[in-house]
Amino acid sequence: MSNKTTQEDNYSTDAISLKLESLYTLQNIDSEIDRITVLRGELPVEVADLKEEIEKLNERLEKQQTLDDEINSHIENERQKIDQSNSLIEKYNAQQMKVRNNREFDAINKELEFQALEIELSNKKIKSYELDVDSNADKVKLLKAKIKERKKHLKNKNSELADIIKSTEDEEKKLISKKKKCVKLIEPRLYNSYENLRQTSRNGLAVVKIDRGACGGCFNSVTSQHNLNIKLRKDILFCESCGRILVPDDIDQQ
Ligand SMILES: [Zn+2]
Repeated sequence: MSNKTTQEDNYSTDAISLKLESLYTLQNIDSEIDRITVLRGELPVEVADLKEEIEKLNERLEKQQTLDDEINSHIENERQKIDQSNSLIEKYNAQQMKVRNNREFDAINKELEFQALEIELSNKKIKSYELDVDSNADKVKLLKAKIKERKKHLKNKNSELADIIKSTEDEEKKLISKKKKCVKLIEPRLYNSYENLRQTSRNGLAVVKIDRGACGGCFNSVTSQHNLNIKLRKDILFCESCGRILVPDDIDQQ
């Protein structure tokens, strides 16, 4: 007799309602836990990516600075050549004063012309190197600004991550303890199918509401008889397309 009563109780609208509500609550708790996991899952990757990016930018900056040193040493080289040419010119000018014939004069003149051309060439090279120095300075400036900006971004992401870890730790603990209490209200067989459904579903949804006559998980329409049975809370019913547990759309309005 008492057995029969339990059976009836188990399948009464109230009992089914309670089961559906527990399942729906459990799903919401699990979705919240999933959300925290996703939040944490993305930020550490973002932080690692930023660190790598900054490292690469620093390498590029170092290369630009090495290049700068090289160009400056080329410029210095050309300036030394000009100095040498100038002292030669001075020397040739003095020699020219003491020439004994035209042939010697012409020979020295040729040397003088040659050194003048050398100076001209060095000056041209210096000008072009100086242009390189300018464009290099621009690149260095841009890189430094970029590094500064990325570092600031990294600092923000790092503190965001620390905040999330700090704030979600408590939230997660609370959710896990709420989940434990909720699971106790659900019979093991039902809880097992719930967990199986969650694992096979891509978005972690095992329990979904009926939304305008369609399954809230796969969006396939639900037959009107099925819909009515779910609305009347006659039993734990599943979507005929995706197998998810369907709950009436007014599940959280009581
Ligand atoms: Zn479905």
